[in-house]
Amino acid sequence: MRALEHIGIAVRSLQEAIPRWERLLGVPCYKIEEVPSEGVRTAFFRVGAVKIELLEATRPDSPIARFLERRGEGIHHLAFAVDDVRQALIALGEKGFAPLHEEPRPGADNKWVGFFHPRSANGVLVEVCQDREES
Ligand code: ZN
Repeated sequence: MRALEHIGIAVRSLQEAIPRWERLLGVPCYKIEEVPSEGVRTAFFRVGAVKIELLEATRPDSPIARFLERRGEGIHHLAFAVDDVRQALIALGEKGFAPLHEEPRPGADNKWVGFFHPRSANGVLVEVCQDREES
């Protein structure tokens, strides 16, 4: 892992959460982006070198909707920057961490992402991410 890249927080409503987090952090949301494949709409803030990613479900069967149902609002995942998501999925898999999928997926904020099951890391959903070339 190169660095903690962002912290993902599940919220019921971006419309309600964005102004609150702008007040808390003292910085404006710099991007709102939907990832249709994941059924999620995201809002990003920069705090020093780390970002905060608020996550709102866009459909009832999305992973975020299921998370909110089970656990309510709160910290959803930690995302670490890596050089190569594909390689990280393999290498960490070999070290006993359970990838949720084999291939890197397109994520928000122009990233390739990979996820590891929370049981691998003491109940924490872990994301690895890598910048994606604009196409
Ligand atoms: Zn994330």
